[in-house]
Amino acid sequence: MSRSRTTRWRRTLALWTLAIGAGALAGLLLGNIGWGVATALFAVLVHLALNLYQLDRWITGSGDDQPNLSGSVWQEIVMRVGKRSRKHRKRRRALNRVIREFHDASNAIPDALVTLDKSLQILWFNDAGCKLLGLTRPNDYYQPITNLLRNPAFQRWLTREHKRKEPLRLASPLESERTLVFRLVTLDHGQHMLVVRDVTEAQRLDQMRRDFVANVSHELRTPLTVIAGYLETMDSDRPAGWEGAVEQMASQARRMTDLVEDLLTMARLEGAEPGREADHVDVPSLVAGLCEEARAHGSGHQVVCEVDSGYGILGTYKDVRIAFGNLIVNALRYATPGSTITLRWHENDDECRFEVQDEGPGIPASHLPRLTERFYRVDADRSRARGGTGLGLAIVKHILTQHGGRLEVESEVGVGSCFACVFPADRLAYPESQEQRSA
Ligand code: ADP
Repeated sequence: MSRSRTTRWRRTLALWTLAIGAGALAGLLLGNIGWGVATALFAVLVHLALNLYQLDRWITGSGDDQPNLSGSVWQEIVMRVGKRSRKHRKRRRALNRVIREFHDASNAIPDALVTLDKSLQILWFNDAGCKLLGLTRPNDYYQPITNLLRNPAFQRWLTREHKRKEPLRLASPLESERTLVFRLVTLDHGQHMLVVRDVTEAQRLDQMRRDFVANVSHELRTPLTVIAGYLETMDSDRPAGWEGAVEQMASQARRMTDLVEDLLTMARLEGAEPGREADHVDVPSLVAGLCEEARAHGSGHQVVCEVDSGYGILGTYKDVRIAFGNLIVNALRYATPGSTITLRWHENDDECRFEVQDEGPGIPASHLPRLTERFYRVDADRSRARGGTGLGLAIVKHILTQHGGRLEVESEVGVGSCFACVFPADRLAYPESQEQRSA
């Protein structure tokens, strides 16, 4: 207890004692001390009750002005309660301001934000939630979001925990020509924040870029075929002194043709929906065929083929062939002639792997994370000199992503490299449960 408070209480107790003493004295003079004390006690109680009544009125808000209570303890209580209530009001105003600012900011965001509880019921959403998803206030509060967004792909994505780690791209429930990307962020206490972005414009620009590259590549194809054709005919009939020049022109025309073909492949892959085509790809016979082609390449490598699994994969034959072929071409391109190149198809845990292992120069570890970027080369001059376009591994990565797989690279400088296409269990199939292989 602080000193001033002790003094105040002492003074109050002294006052009460004085009042009771005065009552006792008056009682004694009037011949009944008991009545005198009782009257004094009653007066103290009435005083207390009056003060409490005024305090109650003030605190519960029926009286606006601060009550003028007699007694230093009561004045102190009124002052402290007043101070605390002013502080509380100030805090509430600040909190309201923060909430208002948060609401304004969240409503200014073009993405839809929807908070969901553990059982995926809607707790809150911003204005974009109404605009992009058609949610309405207050009707949709506490509704399961799956009752309002009934797209089966959305329901599957939202209710399967492993699926919702990846963003989901869907047509808008309000305008089918618009595309939305859904992301789910986990908050504290099992709540979630659904973030939905309209990517229609970004998608349109991306499509324009892809169309542009595809059109340019397409337009270049015919003149290049003509140039390459003439250069081929000049092969047997070269003008004197032009041998070297014709050779160089032919090699550059080949490079440009490869580049155009890779650009067209890339544009086609980027435009394709992942997992749309799901034919059975007979990987064991595909690998055997690629092995024969690699041996017939005449590059002087020892090509070893190890097919230890009968599994095939569900996917697009043409694309799987391109992916495997690109890895083999790289091994033939970069590994020293005479060294061994091993092609392997085998099971590992639940997955199947197609590996191309070479005894080539290897790749420094610092380059590995960037290898699948378009036009990224470890040694640009060597790549160009050997006919590389810089798009081979980007194409491989794209194809594998579309097949639910991944590319793994292990490499050691001076020892060699191993590139592996890894396919998960849900992409594997045995021949008896397979559909017709596409040619
Ligand atoms: P490129 O057409 O230039 O070969 P890729 O995308 O296929 O383009 O490969 C990217 C780069 O990775 C290559 O330029 C090369 O430097 C390196 N690389 C790819 N495969 C191998 C390999 N088997 N051995 C050594 N380096 C390789």
